[in-house]
Amino acid sequence: MKIKTPLKQLKLSVPAQETPITSFLTASGTFHDGDLLLNLKGLRLISEEKESRPADSKELEFEFSLEDFETIKVVGKGSGGVVQLVRHKWIGKLFALKVIQMNIQEDIRKQIVQELKINQAAQCSNVVVCYHSFYHNEAFSLVLEYMDRGSLADVIRQVKTILEPYLAVVCKQVLQGLVYLHYERHVIHRDIKPSNLLVNHKGEVKITDFGVSAMLASTMGQRDTFVGTYNYMSPERISGSTYDYSCDIWSLGMVVLECAIGRFPYMQSEDHQTWPSFYELLEAIVESPSPSAPADQFSPEFCSFVSACIQKNPRDRSSSLDLLSHPFIKKFEDKDIDLGILVGSLEPPVNFPR
Ligand code: ATP
Ligand code: MG
Repeated sequence: MKIKTPLKQLKLSVPAQETPITSFLTASGTFHDGDLLLNLKGLRLISEEKESRPADSKELEFEFSLEDFETIKVVGKGSGGVVQLVRHKWIGKLFALKVIQMNIQEDIRKQIVQELKINQAAQCSNVVVCYHSFYHNEAFSLVLEYMDRGSLADVIRQVKTILEPYLAVVCKQVLQGLVYLHYERHVIHRDIKPSNLLVNHKGEVKITDFGVSAMLASTMGQRDTFVGTYNYMSPERISGSTYDYSCDIWSLGMVVLECAIGRFPYMQSEDHQTWPSFYELLEAIVESPSPSAPADQFSPEFCSFVSACIQKNPRDRSSSLDLLSHPFIKKFEDKDIDLGILVGSLEPPVNFPR
C-alpha cells in the first residue's frame, strides 16, 4: 500500500452526536472517514484519484488487491473458470470474483488487460460492473458486481416458464444494456444467453461477460477460442459468415422465446432432455425456418417481438434501439411490474453441476 499523505497530517474526526454512527461504519466494522479507513486489520488510505468507475460508494475508490478478498462460496462454474462470492476484508462489500485460467503470451495478455481496463469504465445500470482485473498465476481474475439472484438460467431452472409481463421487464433491461453496448461502446456482445443475464433481489437484470468473450474473440481469432454454447448463435455466426450487432438480437430473441415456452426452441417438444449435437444445431439454425412463438398461447405483441428478433436474415432483425419502443415493451411499461417479487420468491441460486 502506498501512503500518499504523511500520517501525522491525518485526523480522525469523531462523528457528531446527531449523525447516525452507521454512516461512518461499514458492514465489516471499518471506520470510514474521508480518505481514511480503520479497522482491526489496521489503517488504510483510499486513493485520491477519482476514476470514472460507477462506484456506488466512495469505499470503492481505493486500489483493489487480490489478498483483500476472502472467499465465501463458489457461486458458479463456466467453461472458462469459476465464479466465487467474495467479501472485501476492508469494506465488507460483496463481489463476484471470476477466475479464468489462461496461459497466454505476454503481448496478448497486455492487450487483454488494456481491453479490460477500458471495459471497467462501463457506465450503464444494465451492464454488470467490472471493478478491477488482475493477471496472476496464469489466470485472469475479474472483480465483478455481485448479482445475488444468479442468472436467468437459474431463474428458468426453477420457474420453468416466465410470464409475458415479467418477460417484458427483463427484455426492457437487457435492451437498455444492449443499446449501451451497441450505440455507446460500439461492441457486439457475441454471447447473449441465459447464464450471461444476471439478476438481483431488486429485480435488476444486467448483462455480463461483455468484454470478456468479445475481447477474447477479437484478440485470439473468433472461432478457435469459442468455448461456450452455440445454442443461441445466429445463423450467420454459427456458419462462420460475417456478422454485426444484429447477432445479439437473434440471441436475445432465442432467450426470450425459451423463457416463454420453457424449453430451448430447437429442442423437440416431445423430448426435452436430449440436446442437439453441434451439427444438428448448425443444420437446424441455418436450414430450418426460424422458431416463433405459438400465436394461440401468446399475445400478438409478444409474437411480433420474438419475430422482430429471430429473423434468419440479419437485415430483417430490428435494432436494440427500435425494440425498446416495441409494443410488447410498451404494453407493460406503466404497469409497475416488480421482477424483484418473482426472483425473491425463488430459492437462492445454487451451484448446479454442469
Ligand atoms: P460459459 O462459461 O459457458 O459462458 P457461464 O456464463 O455459465 O458459461 P460463467 O460466466 O463463468 O459461465 O458464470 C458461471 C455462473 O456464475 C453463472 O451462470 C452465474 O450463475 C454465476 N455468476 C457469474 N457472474 C456472476 C456475478 N457477477 N454475480 C453472481 N453470480 C455470477
Ligand atoms: Mg458467463
